Amino acid sequence: MKQQWQAAKQVIRQLETAGFEAVFVGGAVRDALLGRPGHDVDVATSALPEEVKTVFGKTVDVGIAHGTILVLDAGEPIEVTTYRTDGEYVDHRRPDGVIFVRSLEEDLKRRDFTMNAIAMRADEQIIDLYGGRDDIAKEVIRAVGNPSDRFAEDALRMLRAVRFSAQLGFTIEPATLAAVKEHAHEIAFVAHERIAAELEKIWVSAAPKAGIDSLVESGLAHHLPGHIEDHQARWTSFCANKAAVGWAYLAFLNKDGQGIVESYRLSNKIKNFIQQVLAAYNKLLDGWLPFDYFTYEQDVLEAAFDFAIWEGKALPFQKEEISRKKESLPIQARQELAANGHDFIEWHEGKGGPWLKEAIEQALLAVLSGEVQNNKEQIRDWFIHDFLNEG
Ligand code: ATP
Ligand code: MG
Repeated sequence: MKQQWQAAKQVIRQLETAGFEAVFVGGAVRDALLGRPGHDVDVATSALPEEVKTVFGKTVDVGIAHGTILVLDAGEPIEVTTYRTDGEYVDHRRPDGVIFVRSLEEDLKRRDFTMNAIAMRADEQIIDLYGGRDDIAKEVIRAVGNPSDRFAEDALRMLRAVRFSAQLGFTIEPATLAAVKEHAHEIAFVAHERIAAELEKIWVSAAPKAGIDSLVESGLAHHLPGHIEDHQARWTSFCANKAAVGWAYLAFLNKDGQGIVESYRLSNKIKNFIQQVLAAYNKLLDGWLPFDYFTYEQDVLEAAFDFAIWEGKALPFQKEEISRKKESLPIQARQELAANGHDFIEWHEGKGGPWLKEAIEQALLAVLSGEVQNNKEQIRDWFIHDFLNEG
């Protein structure tokens, strides 16, 4: 983090030396003022993208259409964005075009909230044109300018307000909240991927239930897929260390994994996680067998366990036991089974057939349950005396 600030400062100094203006801006300045561990340090500059590229040796055009250049000269990669105002807003979505400007004041004016519109120079002088520091001290989220106009331009800002309230524990200032309520239905115009990115930040925030409450109170929940308002109270104990758990819980509450995946265009990785957690949850109600501990990853089992607890179900074991159970399994992966397909065929006098798959499955179960030890002789005995005799 400190290295990023150092690197960003070096980038700002170099731009200044070349005759341009440059500042720290956005989330990093906000979080630094809040004393929160920050994230990416962004730099804004009066230099046009082409000019930025002439100042530095190593750059990457990461978002040149929006004025963003990644500078690699300073050890840490630093995003440098040209001062800009937004072009025309169509359909309440982020504008396609941007207009580069030379004035910091104009750049700050297009930012969403006062706490996000604070700039800082390399010498730590703060430029705070909208009372962002006051609002940070008061812990309020306030739109820059007229909130109704700002949400009409870009409806995603409403969801960002809710997301920041869950992350920071701030309240949405009354006029800003009133404007969210007024424009809540326009969230439907925003790309589902952008909505999903904000919701994910709510799932992993310090206060996800506060985020859910704020989604409902603001009216946004009503216009988002997933019937969030119907299940509001069930989020009371929810907490997650990764976004996939939030998606799985939303799917669980809706009893519809596929619907949530499609509505929010979730990745295959998250889709698989959801399917696994829902399956593990269903088995949990009868108690997990060694095979379940073997089949499901620890994070899947832990999520299913949490769901049961959040639902007020009494479970006869502690969450900590999940890892112990997994570790004490005789094998951790199928390849560790001491006998393979060739062995079974050999023991069956060279004949293959549909029985083979079944034999391997049953051998696995027998080993996992401790009925048969995981060595070739024992598995062979079991195969000849139990499996073949039964079949
Ligand atoms: P975090 O990175 O923690 O999500 P952030 O404030 O840095 O928070 P970003 O999405 O990284 O948020 O955006 C960086 C800055 O760009 C914001 O601080 C804000 O000034 C501005 N910004 C981002 N999205 C919008 C938007 N939809 N409308 C107006 N300004 C925005
Ligand atoms: Mg950021």
